[in-house]
Formats: sequence, structure tokens, C-alpha cells
Amino acid sequence: MSRTPQEAFDELIRRVKAVSLLGSCGAVLHWDHQTYMPPQGGAHRAEQLALLAGLCHEQFTAPEIGDLLSLAETGEIARPSGSAVAVNLREIRRAYDRATRIPAALVQELARISTLAQDVWVEARMASDFGRFRPWLEKLVGLKREEAQAVGRGGALYDALLDEYEPGETAARLTQVFAELRPALVDLVGRIAASGRRPDLAILHRAYPLAAQEAFGKAVVTAFGFDFHAGRLDVTTHPFCSGIGPGDTRLTTRYNLHDFGDAFFSILHEAGHGLYDQGLDPEHYGTPMGEAVSLGIHESQSRLWENFVGRSRAFWDCWLPRAREVFPDVLDGVGLDGFVFAINDVRPSFIRVDADEATYNLHIVLRFELEQALIAGDLAVADLPAAWNERMVRDLGSAPPDDAQGCLQDIHWSGGSFGYFPTYTLGNLYAAQFFAKAQAELGNLEEQFRRGEFVPLKEWLNQKIHREGQRNRAVDLVAAVTGEPLNPAYLLRHLREKLGTLYGV
Ligand code: ZN
Repeated sequence: MSRTPQEAFDELIRRVKAVSLLGSCGAVLHWDHQTYMPPQGGAHRAEQLALLAGLCHEQFTAPEIGDLLSLAETGEIARPSGSAVAVNLREIRRAYDRATRIPAALVQELARISTLAQDVWVEARMASDFGRFRPWLEKLVGLKREEAQAVGRGGALYDALLDEYEPGETAARLTQVFAELRPALVDLVGRIAASGRRPDLAILHRAYPLAAQEAFGKAVVTAFGFDFHAGRLDVTTHPFCSGIGPGDTRLTTRYNLHDFGDAFFSILHEAGHGLYDQGLDPEHYGTPMGEAVSLGIHESQSRLWENFVGRSRAFWDCWLPRAREVFPDVLDGVGLDGFVFAINDVRPSFIRVDADEATYNLHIVLRFELEQALIAGDLAVADLPAAWNERMVRDLGSAPPDDAQGCLQDIHWSGGSFGYFPTYTLGNLYAAQFFAKAQAELGNLEEQFRRGEFVPLKEWLNQKIHREGQRNRAVDLVAAVTGEPLNPAYLLRHLREKLGTLYGV
């Protein structure tokens, strides 16, 4: 039986959608694992998830997928680049080549070693003993180099790993962008430290009742346009967002009585991811045209709502009076100035996840430099702690007292994730550039926020980014939406203006 290219394409899409459906079953199980599963369910759940992951991989890498792709690619249907069909073929091809070029034995070895390495990392971090983790990190670096070679993307080995999270991005381009960002941030953070001004942080650590925190967070993200008829908010240890499928987007957070910002900003952050997932085109569900562009673009949506909206003075102009009603007595004597200053506190710290909007990116640049050097073979794993500390002194003024607060702090490398870190800062950079463009096209956003209007911004993001799926890769999406390539000047301007006012620098 011979098929036409159109028939091959239709069959390909049917199969790819089936793999996505299977994957979304795994997403429900994962969400349940992190929220409501009883502790003893872990071993059984791991088997369920491994079975689903295996089935997905087997079905997606089947030789028939390759045959269908090749046939569909010969047809006229593949021609108009940028059409839904052409985009789906381009991105399915990319994912298929990536998945099939890495030998099964290497995939299994990476899964085995990273599971073991993660357990060792937990112990090593607890004991602040880099020596214990070192041989495992050496194994992982070796395996990731093999993986990068197998992917064979050309260019630096690191690019093949980066490509998994941010398709089309290169280390060379990031190096250029970060070279502009780093000294400017070091200068800004230095001037802030020298200003001598400090907000009163105690106001964020009064007793904020947990039920009121939940109600307040939900009210805010509802005003952003997050649809709770198509989503939930539950409690977990590490906040995340899971876009399970059309009509079902799950947010999670954690509540701390004496830390208002912990839950509140994580709810805004995860809702930013959730708004992206809720904004995807359900017609294209399960295919690249109905999926997010990249981790960096996903992160731009979370950071935009968390930082550009949720930490702005205009937002609190509208919402602080409401907060006073929700938290009676707690906010007594707290004015708008003091509150906005406290939630925008900037100070160098050792731990990335605790870092503020400005120093955060310095933590990322450091990790990007080091992981690139590890993969290139320019830095021996044994020399990692010293290299880490040296860069901490260079960029943030002091070295951590131990490796637990230094190179052992993040889980990423122990799980084999190299090339992931830069997507966080890309998210900040994209967010700044998108926000500036939205401001130019939607008029005075600050005025809108003061009036409690956030839906115009949400709908702008829906139209420009969410509904487009993977039509453009991140690099091209930024140019298509904003009219210019990625430009760090937008993030720097945002930080200098906001922090300049607060700190008088
Ligand atoms: Zn995020």
C-alpha cells in the first residue's frame, strides 16, 4: 500500500498526538505524586511512570515515524514554511532525529547514573562534601559529552545540550549577550550596596494566615485571567505548574506563615506558566503547533507576571488596599512605599533560588560559564569548587563558606541537566523585551494596573505568543513580536529604572 504525502502526514499526526496523550497521563501521575499520593506509594508510582516513559519513547522512535516523516516531507504540503503543516514537520523532525540519534544504551546508562548520582548529591550536599559527589559528576560529564557527540548538531558540544531546552540557541550568542549583561549588573548591584539604603523586611515576615494567603493569591491570578474552571492550585514542597492538557492546568505552591513572598510570588510565577498553557491552541493539542516554544520562552511568561507585574508599584497601588482587607491588622502601619521596597530588596547571596531580580542573573552567568567549560573539557571536575568560588568573589563580592552553599546547591547537574541554567536568564531577558513591546502597543500599562486591568496584557500575550505554538523558534519569535533580536538593554533598563528609584542610585 502506498500513501500520498498528505496521508502520511495525517497518520504521523495521529501517532504523535497519541504519544502526547500517553505523556499527559504521566503528567497527572507526576502531579499526584507531588501533591496527594501517600508516602508509601512511591515505588509503585515510579514503575507506572517508567512504563509510560518507555511506551512514549518506543512509540515516538518507531521506524514507521521516520518513514511517515520522510514521505510527508516530499509533498507540496511541506512547502509554505511557517504553515501549520510545515512547522509540525520541522519540529517533529527535530525531536525525532534527537531521540533516535542517541543510542538506547547511552539513554539507559544516563538514566541509571543520574538516578544514582542524585542520591549521592543529596548526601554530599547535606555533608557539604564535594569529594563524595565528584566521581559521579565526572561520569555524568563524560556521558553528556557522548550524548552531545551523538546528537551531532555541529558547533560546540555544549550547543547540542543547550538545544534540548532552547532549540536553535548557541553558546556563542549567549556568551555575547551575557558579556553585556554581567558587568552592567555587577555595577548596579555594587551601587545599590553602596547606597546604604535598606528596606524593612520584617513587614513580610509578620504572621500571614495561610487560608488568607491562598485566597489572596487566587484572587490576584484570577484578575490576571487564569481560569480556575480549567485549573487548580494545590500544595507541594517545590512549586511547579503542570499543563496536563486542554482545560486542565495545575499550579502548586507552599505556604509559610511568616513569609508572605514565598507563596505569593510563586503563585504568580506558576500562574504565568499556567496562562501560557491555558493560552495554547487546543485545536493543535499534542502537536508542535499546540506546544510551548522553549523553556526560555515559558520562563519569560512566569517572570513577566511575577516580576514585571507583581513587583511593580502600579500593581500594589491597586492591590495593597485589598491586601489590608484580607490580612487585617497584619499590614498596620505599612505604606505603599515601604511594601514595594521590601518586595524589591536587592542583596548578594550565595543561593540562587533565594536571589533577587538583579543578582539572580549573575548566579546564572556563573553556572553557564562553568558548565560550558566542563563539557568542553576546559575545566576538570576536581577544579569546580575553586572555579565556582573565584567567580562568586568576582561577581557577588564573596565566596560561600562551604560547597553546600556553593557548587553543590543545585539539583540540575546531578540529574544530567547541562544547558538548562541559561534558560532562566533568557526568560528574564525575553520578559523585559516582550513587556516593553506590550507597553508600546497597549498604551500605559501602569495606568491599567492601577485600575486593576490585567486582561489586555494577558490577551496580548495570548495572541502574540501562546496561540502561535512553535511556529517560530525562540530567536525568531522575539524578532517577530518585538521587531528586533534579543537585546539585554531592555532588562537592564527595567532594573535600573525600578531599583534606581528605590535605592536612589
Ligand atoms: Zn518557572
